Amino acid sequence: MSEPRVQVPSSREQCLALDATDPLAAFRAEYLLPEGAVYLDGNSLGVLPARTPETVRRTVEQEWGQDLITSWNKHGWTEFPYTLGDRIAPLVGAGPGEVVVCDSVSVNLFKLLTAALRLRPGRRTVLGERDSFPTDLYIAEGVTGLFEGGRSVLLPSVDDLDAHLDDSVAVVVLSQVDYRTGRLLDMAEITARVHRAGALMIWDLCHSAGALPIDLTACDVDFAVGCTYKYLNAGPCAPGFLYVAPRHQEVAEQPLTGWFGHAEPFAFESGYRPASGIGRFLTSFPPLLALAGLRATLEVWEKVDLELVRAKSLAMTELFIERCRALGLDVVTPAEPERRGSQVAVRHPDGYPVVQALIERGVIGDFRAPDLMRFGFTPLYLSYTEVWDAAQALGEVLASGEWRAERFNVRGAVT
Ligand SMILES: *Cc1c(COP(=O)(O)O)cnc(C)c1O
Repeated sequence: MSEPRVQVPSSREQCLALDATDPLAAFRAEYLLPEGAVYLDGNSLGVLPARTPETVRRTVEQEWGQDLITSWNKHGWTEFPYTLGDRIAPLVGAGPGEVVVCDSVSVNLFKLLTAALRLRPGRRTVLGERDSFPTDLYIAEGVTGLFEGGRSVLLPSVDDLDAHLDDSVAVVVLSQVDYRTGRLLDMAEITARVHRAGALMIWDLCHSAGALPIDLTACDVDFAVGCTYKYLNAGPCAPGFLYVAPRHQEVAEQPLTGWFGHAEPFAFESGYRPASGIGRFLTSFPPLLALAGLRATLEVWEKVDLELVRAKSLAMTELFIERCRALGLDVVTPAEPERRGSQVAVRHPDGYPVVQALIERGVIGDFRAPDLMRFGFTPLYLSYTEVWDAAQALGEVLASGEWRAERFNVRGAVT
């Protein structure tokens, strides 16, 4: 299948023309955006879908307020981890019964890493990448600490993988898209290499789910984790999801054996018997009000063609990279489309105040220590013209030196 391609615009007029014929333009009405804001942080916290407030209100007022405990059956509450997982599945190339919604990314990774180590009893090393999102590394440290001889080895770069893939390695955990640089890894090729070495592969999809087409099945992936509040717009701190390949579902044992992973939670037995299938990876019931946000946003995602999202995303990131280069900036995101996710990172020693000054102009990006300005591109609610204008604003902030103002140099708790 040939990927849809979009010609990268080279003027504001061309951006306006592209917006006028953009096949995804109608999706913008599905989101409630602050007036005048150009939101380039959907990779961190996705914007509010227009249908979410009503779904949350109905869940609170009707399901909780009126139907109370009967809602578990009446509104299918007990099924949500499964039914919502099945609705996420097509976005990551999984089948029904292969994805469940539960817990946070960190907790899900804890469960899957432990399960993976148990599946490879003679091997006790977990390989990760030093610059990965720290929680993934902290969890690897925590899990390996529970196994005798367990160790977590951090590669300086994924390029060093082969040198470390010996027969002590039980499992490799990597992010498909790097949270800082936006670098995209070749999921099929790396998974195959890890399998050839006799190890298992866990992918973290936090910065790729909803940003590009993913095919866990075709890539023969063992396990994956992802979050729903970034590109998927489920709302602040909405629960994560996890994927387990069918071949592991009946044999893998996860350690957080809570009642929702039991074969019959409502039999209230005193011993644990795992559910069959993906259900055994549940621990507790996920927060129901947060699931209302996920229910609403997945109604939008059901209508989305991820190939079109990818084509627009690549054109937007390329446009922004070109504009940044024209400003003489140091872009650290890979230029090759097949190595790029949906965000652009720019290195600048004063990145923090520059981003603050941009936010005051209505262009909302973020900053990642020590020196990266990070801009996420979400094709369902951004236009090419906004991308052009954002780069223009960046140029003006830098040229005017307005970022030097004291108010831009005071750091909040979250950058
Ligand atoms: C956002 C993100 C997380 C979030 O972890 P939580 O435990 O859900 O808070 C984890 N890993 C990566 C790579 C992320 O980008």
